[in-house]
This record gives sequence, structure tokens and C-alpha cells, in this order.
Amino acid sequence: MGPLYLLSLANPIIAGVFFLTFFTIWRRQRERTYVLAWALIYSAASIGWGIDFLRVFFGDFWVSFAANIVFPFVAFFTTRGACLRYQGSSPDGLLGSVCGASITVSSYFSLGHEDAFWRGTSTSIAMAIMLFIGLFAVLRARRRDHIDNGIALALGLIAVVLVVRPVMSVMIEGSPSEAGATPESFWLVSVKLMALFWWISFAVLFLVRIAADLMRDLAEQSVTDPLSGVLNRRGFFERGQAVLDQANAALPAAVLICDIDLFKKVNDSYGHSIGDAVIQGLATVLREAVGEYGVVGRLGGEEFAVVLPKSDTRGALLFAEGLRSAFSHQRHEGIPPSQQPTVSIGLAECSGRETLGRVLDRADAALYRAKHSGRDRVERSVETAEDRPICNAA
Ligand code: GH3
Ligand code: MG
Ligand code: MG
Repeated sequence: MGPLYLLSLANPIIAGVFFLTFFTIWRRQRERTYVLAWALIYSAASIGWGIDFLRVFFGDFWVSFAANIVFPFVAFFTTRGACLRYQGSSPDGLLGSVCGASITVSSYFSLGHEDAFWRGTSTSIAMAIMLFIGLFAVLRARRRDHIDNGIALALGLIAVVLVVRPVMSVMIEGSPSEAGATPESFWLVSVKLMALFWWISFAVLFLVRIAADLMRDLAEQSVTDPLSGVLNRRGFFERGQAVLDQANAALPAAVLICDIDLFKKVNDSYGHSIGDAVIQGLATVLREAVGEYGVVGRLGGEEFAVVLPKSDTRGALLFAEGLRSAFSHQRHEGIPPSQQPTVSIGLAECSGRETLGRVLDRADAALYRAKHSGRDRVERSVETAEDRPICNAA
């Protein structure tokens, strides 16, 4: 064993370190199953290359035989992770079949008709097929950013190299079964280099992907109300103001405040958890009615607000009536049908010269009138922007 042979330890050690890195992230984020799949890439890689290191002790035959059983799992987990991340599910049956076929064929070229070229090449082709499945999962993703494009590029590149490398090796030094796969041969050196490139490029891309996913989720959580799932006050003011900034006299926006009627009584009579369910019920009505079109937020307690772009008072009144009616017909478990809660709504129109805080004040004044005129009704603001001084603070 020449000292250069020690370089063969690089692959199992680097793969082992990456396994620990991904596994540690997954332990703290167990719902991200794609992180576990990507951790398992490196456990398979570490085992495969660990076996390969033993070549000097056990000889080519048994080592190549065992390594070709383990290596297809590297591609299996690479693609499984990509499918889970980009499509939400993984075609495990298909991937398992490709793995099984790869192991069967490579075993035949070890135990049946010994042929080092076809043993390695059949494994490479199976791995390339799995990586192409992963590549399509990334390309079919609804949204892709530059990290995803990098992952797609790396998957495609490795898949192509997997197929081209054995052919090049034969062109350069002949079939490995004839030339013998010595540690210095192109056949073995090229496969080790390719693997190193694979581990390192994927590890960097996957870690950046996971970090970006975590940051996006944290940003989303910081503007989401945990009970109702709609925007919290902070998120609502940010996104609602952005909508109001687009409004003008020709295309005004409307702001609605919705407050559940006599909600204290709901809590007192049926308990806090039923009160929570009623709050969630109103959030559902608002979310379903507004969809992607407007902005819905929980201002606090049982009070929600909506910003509707391109809506004048007349359109918003009809919309608010629909919301009021839908909520009054919603059934809440634990509350008798005759006591189902209702909602009062105040609305104000904005033609783009006010802050969201000011328009909300006007909608709130309308809500106050709705409460004082008997509740379960919609009232619109009678003030115009000109009636109040313009204020810049939200
Ligand atoms: P009104 O018709 O005038 O709006 O009467 P109301 O009883 O709804 O009046 P108010 O706005 O004063 O009552 C709000 C109640 O909402 C008081 C508070 O205990 C309750 N509340 C606030 N946040 C939550 C929550 O997260 N869950 C539950 N269950 N109750 C909440
Ligand atoms: Mg109330
Ligand atoms: Mg209230």
C-alpha cells in the first residue's frame, strides 16, 4: 500500500462528517423529512467508501461487490430528498425498483459472469436514472430560485458524468477487467474524484437550501398569528399598507374591521377553548372569502381586519355582507344553533392618501356604530379622508 492510498480515507471521512451535519439538523427539525433523506446520502456514501478503503486488505472482488450494493442508495437518498423537498412525496417504489435492479445486475457481474466494467457501469447507469428522476422533481417545482437551479444543474451534471465516466475510462486505459483496477487506475481515481465532487457540491447546495427554508419559515412565523393562521398585527400592517399604497381615486381600496359580537359571553358560557374555535372559524371565513386577492390579519382578541384592493365602498359593502352572513351560518360545536355567534363589520374606503392606521380608525368608527345599532350588521364610514388631517404614523 503506497502512501497515496491513504487519500482513499478522504471520501468516507468527509461523507461521515456531512452525515453528522445533516443528521444533527434533522434531529432539531424532524418534520423536514428531506433533511433526513439527505443525511442518509452521506451514511450510504460513508459506508460505501469505507468498504472501498478495505480494498487493500480484501482485494478487488469482494470490495467492489459490496460497494456496488451500497452505492445505489446514495442516488436513492439524493433523489428521495429532492422529491420530498420539491414535490412533497417521493416515488419510493420506482426508486426501490431501480436500486433492486442495479444490485441484481451488478451482483450478476460479480458472482455470475465476472466483468468489472459492467459491474461498475450498470451501477452508474442506475444511479444516473435515479438522479434524473430527482432532476425532474426539481424542474417541476412550482417555484424555483437560484439555489434550486444550482441543485438541478448539479443533479444533471452528475447524472451525465456517471454515464460518461466509464466510457471515457475504457477509451483511456481499456476495460478495467482486462487492465485491472489498480488504486492508481483512471477507473478508480475518476470515480473517487467524481464522488468527492458529488458530496461536496451537494452538501453545500443542500445546506444553503435548508438554511434558506429555515429563514423563510422563521420570517413567515414572525408575521403569522398562531391561533388563527392569518397575519398578525405586524404582518397585516406591512402588507396592508403596501396594498393601500397602490390605491388611487380611480381604483380605491377598502378596509374592513370585523369584531365578533358579545364574545365575552361566548367565553363565559362555553369556555375559552370554544371561544378559540369561534375565532378560528371567523379566520376561516375571512381566509376563504379573501383568498389571494386581499390581506387578512388578526388585530387582537376577536378582532380581524381585511384590506381589499381595487374595491370601492359599494363593492366592499356587498363583500362585507357576504362575510357577515357566512359567519352567522357557520356552526360551532358546543354552541346551540340559536346562540351561534355573529359579527359586526365597519368599513372605510381609501383612495391612497391615508396610512392604514388612519383608514382603520375610520373603519373602527363605523364598527362602533354597527355595535350601537344592534350588532350583526355592516356599517360604512361616513367620514372622508378630507375630514381628518393626514397622519404619517401607522
Ligand atoms: P362586543 O359585541 O361589543 O364586541 O362585545 P364583546 O364581548 O365581544 O367585547 P370585547 O371586545 O370587550 O370582548 C373581547 C373578549 O375576547 C375579551 C377577551 O377575554 C376575549 N379574548 C381575547 N383574546 C382571546 C383569545 O385569544 N381567545 C379567547 N377565547 N378569547 C379571547
Ligand atoms: Mg367583540
Ligand atoms: Mg373586540
